[in-house]
Amino acid sequence: MTGIVVENATRNFAGQQVLKGVSLAVAAGEFVALVGPSGCGKSTLMRLIAGIDRPDSGRILINGRDVTTLRPAARDVAMVFQSYALYPHLTVAENIAVPLAMRRMSAAQRLPLLGRFWPGSQARRRGIREEVGSAALALGLGSLLDRRPAQLSGGQRQRVALARAIVRHPAAFLMDEPLSNLDAALRVHTRREIVEIHRRAGAATLYVTHDQAEALTMADRVAVMQAGQILQVASPRAIYADPDDLRVATFIGSPR
Ligand code: ADP
Ligand code: MG
Repeated sequence: MTGIVVENATRNFAGQQVLKGVSLAVAAGEFVALVGPSGCGKSTLMRLIAGIDRPDSGRILINGRDVTTLRPAARDVAMVFQSYALYPHLTVAENIAVPLAMRRMSAAQRLPLLGRFWPGSQARRRGIREEVGSAALALGLGSLLDRRPAQLSGGQRQRVALARAIVRHPAAFLMDEPLSNLDAALRVHTRREIVEIHRRAGAATLYVTHDQAEALTMADRVAVMQAGQILQVASPRAIYADPDDLRVATFIGSPR
């Protein structure tokens, strides 16, 4: 199948089974919100899919290809996490261009690149600039391309991180509480932008949130996780109106 497939993934840390055989599928074009109490294993699962970590057993497939042991850059996924991890010494345009500029480069070539930017032939540079320009436009960053991260607001920085994800045209977007550092008004606005990005890309999106309003309004389906297991995956309507597990009902019903 296309999109993200996790098959029976387990992960232990110091004898504690943090993922107890998790299976989950997110189809191409589908937006799945992953919710569950703090510490239940959401970020651990995201790291396995992104390739930052590996499962002890089980498999990860992206568009039908087994990527379980591949490094992150070889997986056709883009990640946006809560902390924006922009390069402080690069401009907005350069930050967005990083994944493109680093394509087809060895590790030895990458290091000096971060000091002296815009690599390759003139044609390649022009191509990268065009990609960066259209991603920046999509996120309202067109007038900020020459600024550095320190000169941006939190919301603008997170938009740079989103732009850096979309220039890769990945098969899958992985977002781990990307809006939790933003204030309430900006969160609502950025939600819409993220859904729009997802739709335009036709990607499989897995989106971790602790904000139930986000899960309800953004997702095609909601996956509820608890203690290293996925309890239920269903439409927001079914999850919220008709939970099929007492633990789901308790989690959804509890004030946060
Ligand atoms: P969530 O994102 O749902 O809040 P996490 O996936 O971050 O939860 O963490 C799940 C559990 O795994 C927690 O008990 C956490 O302490 C533990 N854990 C996660 N990563 C590590 C690690 N690298 N080493 C040890 N324990 C970890
Ligand atoms: Mg987490």
